[in-house]
Amino acid sequence: MELAFGKKEEELRKEVRAFLKENIKEEDTSGGFNNRSDEAFEEAKVFNSKLAERGWIAPAWPKEYGGLGASIYEQMVFNEEFGYHGAPDTGTRGFGVGMIGPTLIIHGSEEQKKHYLPKITSGEHIWCQGYSEPGSGSDLASLQTRAVRDGDDYVLNGQKIWTSGGHRANQMFTLVRTDPEAPKHRGISFLLIDDIKNTPGLTLRPLINMANRHHFNEVFFEDVRVPAKNLIGEENRGWYVGMTLLDFERSGIGTTAGQKHTLEKLTALVKEMPDDLREKNRLKLADHVVSNNVARFLGYRIGYIQAKGQVPNYEASVVKIFQSELGQRIYGFGVNMLGLNGQLMPEQTGAPLAGEMPEAMLQAVPSTIYSGTNEIQRNIIATRGLGLPRG
Ligand SMILES: Cc1cc2nc3c(=O)[nH]c(=O)nc-3n(C[C@H](O)[C@H](O)[C@H](O)COP(=O)(O)OP(=O)(O)OC[C@H]3O[C@@H](n4cnc5c(N)ncnc54)[C@H](O)[C@@H]3O)c2cc1C
Repeated sequence: MELAFGKKEEELRKEVRAFLKENIKEEDTSGGFNNRSDEAFEEAKVFNSKLAERGWIAPAWPKEYGGLGASIYEQMVFNEEFGYHGAPDTGTRGFGVGMIGPTLIIHGSEEQKKHYLPKITSGEHIWCQGYSEPGSGSDLASLQTRAVRDGDDYVLNGQKIWTSGGHRANQMFTLVRTDPEAPKHRGISFLLIDDIKNTPGLTLRPLINMANRHHFNEVFFEDVRVPAKNLIGEENRGWYVGMTLLDFERSGIGTTAGQKHTLEKLTALVKEMPDDLREKNRLKLADHVVSNNVARFLGYRIGYIQAKGQVPNYEASVVKIFQSELGQRIYGFGVNMLGLNGQLMPEQTGAPLAGEMPEAMLQAVPSTIYSGTNEIQRNIIATRGLGLPRG
């Protein structure tokens, strides 16, 4: 059995590669939406507007919403190439295309789809995720942010935390409690908040992470009015909408492609090393390449499930665990392999590989926490994958 993309996908890959070569600065290794500076964010916006012109922000979406109607396998080619080349993002492809878009396609009304989806594919709407609260992370259903219906609006009071890219976003999808008397999963609703920068009563406070980057935020709601038409699905049934979104959040394969690129760069360096150092690193490097290929094939399985029109579930948890723990090992190896200089961050002079290794290593630490911790993912595999009773 040959496991390979078809001719059409490989032709597309060539086209995407040529585009990326022309439109990505070689020295930009920040990737994703964790852009280091305001300038990098602005560059990501320009980059996304070029993607939008080609229908490349969400190629697998229907043409009426600004996509190309491409197949899931073609979408995977985009994800791999974007990941491999570290294509910048504003958050649009991650939170917009990867999470809220597919959730709206399943649970949104026709009017909501027509309004929101084209604004994702044009790059105009940049979304962030308002799920976690100071007392509700793994036990998300215990969330306390209150939304009370008042005429045509909901009025929100409460707090969210760890809101990645909230300071860059203009839109937020959030889970709120609409019925405090109901059992915890049944009193939650899924709301969209428009234009968060100009919403009275909504304030953001930066949280600086251990890589010294402004990645996430706290968000406070004080009598924030959200139109009731921004409710997705039924009131008090938002938990199920929110969980659909998490299934999409855990299905990415771009990260493995990024690691492939990293491993290629490390291999080139190992080739140049003196004999003793080369001997020390070559087998470890080989191990990481093997594991990264395993991660790639696990990711392809997710694509296959999606191509059949199904939503991946515990299978995505398998990828999430394997991928996140592997990322930590690879980047940790990279930092150590480069010696003392390997600890130099991108902004420090003389950093080997432009400081990519320590930056990526620090960013990889929380990967076993976000999108649901790896302990929670193991619980999902045990219950939904293996049919074991809850622990
Ligand atoms: C970099 C980063 C970005 C993030 N971005 C966002 C974002 O954009 N939006 C958002 O809403 N949230 C975001 N989060 C929050 C993230 O979803 C939560 O941190 C995560 O769900 C864990 O919740 P917690 O931090 O409250 O930890 P807790 O739930 O308090 O967990 C603490 C520890 O206990 C373990 N644990 C808890 N319950 C169980 C159990 N039942 N079985 C076994 N072990 C258990 C956990 O695995 C963990 O090790 C982000 C987090 C990080 C680190």
